Amino acid sequence: MNATQSIIAQADPGAGYRAQQAEIDAAVARALNSGWYILGKEGEAFEQEFAQWLGTTRAVGCANGTDALALILRGMGIGEGCTVATVSHTAVATVAAIEMAGATPLLLDIDPDTFTMDPDELAAVLEDPPPGLPPIRAAIAVHIYGQACDLDPMLAACQRAGVALIEDCAQAHGAMLGGRRVGTMGNAAAFSLYPTKNLGALGDGGILATDDFELADRIGAIRQYGWRERYVSSLVGVNSRLDEIQAAILRVKLQVLDANNARRREIAAAYDAALEGGPLSPPVRRADSEHVFHQYVLRTGARAELMARLRADGVGTGIHYPVPVHEQSAYAGRTALGPAGCAETSRAAQEVVSLPMYPELTDEQVGRVCAGLRNLAG
Ligand SMILES: *Cc1c(COP(=O)(O)O)cnc(C)c1O
Repeated sequence: MNATQSIIAQADPGAGYRAQQAEIDAAVARALNSGWYILGKEGEAFEQEFAQWLGTTRAVGCANGTDALALILRGMGIGEGCTVATVSHTAVATVAAIEMAGATPLLLDIDPDTFTMDPDELAAVLEDPPPGLPPIRAAIAVHIYGQACDLDPMLAACQRAGVALIEDCAQAHGAMLGGRRVGTMGNAAAFSLYPTKNLGALGDGGILATDDFELADRIGAIRQYGWRERYVSSLVGVNSRLDEIQAAILRVKLQVLDANNARRREIAAAYDAALEGGPLSPPVRRADSEHVFHQYVLRTGARAELMARLRADGVGTGIHYPVPVHEQSAYAGRTALGPAGCAETSRAAQEVVSLPMYPELTDEQVGRVCAGLRNLAG
């Protein structure tokens, strides 16, 4: 690395702001000048534009992606006395949301190639639930790193068991499976709008989507103290609102989401090519799907060495995630595992490493990452 070159960051949310600075500044000024800051015209317009972009009939904004998941569970009446199945190889937020709703998390193992839930395990626990747990009422499918889960067998298993399937799309805005966008196939879907996500606010934000009008209506009330009429709670609710400034910013950023996802795929293809002939395999893409590369993740048994060698070439890396949820001290004894355990999850946590990935990476920066990857072969 040349001493004047800085390390290429693994993520850079500021670059997303600078890429649309004039439009974003104008949107913020519009929201500020409106004199209305919470649940107003910008939020309503963003909900409509997001639902239209996604292809659902309804979308409901809220404070963050964790709340979006918890609000869906609450809206479905899933809480105390219920189990929700998901994975341990995820942002801790997925499991935190299940606990926020009052339900018990049941964590299943992943497919080692795609890092997504093993559908056979889901089918097995739905058919023959582990003893000592409350009834399983929902499964949360996490489309990790920007790639769809193997959703068809999961949906079939949930339908057979009469259980809801909720999609955690926090890393997969725009990902496709069988020609359909993720977030349109389960009963409801949660999206995080955290600054580094494929669609990121400049602060916290979340949105959930569904075709179930009554569910959306209940959640719309629950997110604001259960109000349908101002100051009168008809449901037990919480406070989880999306503010007008973030909604105005998100309307600007939604316009470039598809183009940004295409740029992420272009960067991924360049990394794939740079890995050819080397010791590492590019990420596995599921057949009949379109990955949106929230993260470009490699696997290696020599992670510390790989990270150090890339760093010496000016390339920053990250680990998503270093410790599976069930192995984190806060969750010791609080989560149940499936009968097969979580061996693949534990192995993945030791081996995954994420390369720099955001649409504003310049061709020159991508070239420097590729040079670092080619150096690994030597
Ligand atoms: C980011 C993320 C969330 C939570 O979103 P927040 O907006 O940070 O609350 C949930 N699930 C997954 C898989 C995530 O990556």
